[in-house]
Amino acid sequence: EVYPLQDRIALVTGASSGLGRHFGLLLAANGAHVALAARSIDRVADTAKAITDQGGKALAVALDVTDRASVDAAVARIEDELGPIQILVNNAGVAATAPFLDMTEQDWAQVLDTNLTGVWRVGQAVARRMAPLGRGSIINISSIIGHGVQRQQANYSVAKAGVAQLTRIMALELGELGIRVNALAPGYVATEINHDFFASEKGKAYITRLFPRRLGEASELDGALMLLASDAGSYIQGTTITVDGGSL
Ligand code: NDP
Repeated sequence: EVYPLQDRIALVTGASSGLGRHFGLLLAANGAHVALAARSIDRVADTAKAITDQGGKALAVALDVTDRASVDAAVARIEDELGPIQILVNNAGVAATAPFLDMTEQDWAQVLDTNLTGVWRVGQAVARRMAPLGRGSIINISSIIGHGVQRQQANYSVAKAGVAQLTRIMALELGELGIRVNALAPGYVATEINHDFFASEKGKAYITRLFPRRLGEASELDGALMLLASDAGSYIQGTTITVDGGSL
């Protein structure tokens, strides 16, 4: 606890599974009071229980990042029940993999609306409340697929590349208001989003071609997330930190 988050209020979107659940537990273990949000309220309630069982403070909130009314209601509720949000982890994301020639309108629209527009939408709703207070840290979860090129991921790659650019623009405008905005671009970590691929023969073969020939562990993102969330990162603004074991 070199840079504790004691009693700071955090919101993690997509906290019902995978990295978002992990980030929620991490922030709570470092003293933050954490709002955990996703569409599956039962699953975020489960994450919240894991935190309160360990003596932490957590709130489970239903949130759909593609729906402005849902975002506004969730942010208002968090402020009522926990207080002003000081840390936002914009983590909710989906994938819909398909070759370019076969990708549907729905595959394209859902991934862009969740992974890029969702970051803008939740970022704006939260930043509007951070601005009068003159402080806050926003961490947008990008991906190495945002700066590399992957077959069958046109929608996801474009959304994640957009997150890096949106992060720089948010940093430029919100930095003047005392809000830091950065992105974290993880390499591959086994979660539900990629479970089917990495369970397949094709996925297993893919890992053998990656450097360092293994997937990452969620805990290997902890240092970077804490750096960006805490005062340790007080002079870090508009940056994307890549944590991928060198697999680019
Ligand atoms: P998971 O599928 O395990 O988690 C995705 C989370 O996003 C779930 O909690 C899901 O909850 C939530 N979510 C999806 N759509 C919405 C929505 N419309 N509104 C609110 N929440 C939503 O995947 P990961 O944990 O792997 O993914 C987390 C983030 O990390 C994503 O942005 C992903 O792109 C990124 N990432 C992941 C990598 C990996 O290798 N795993 C690598 C690089 C980046 P629910 O369905 O309940 O709403």
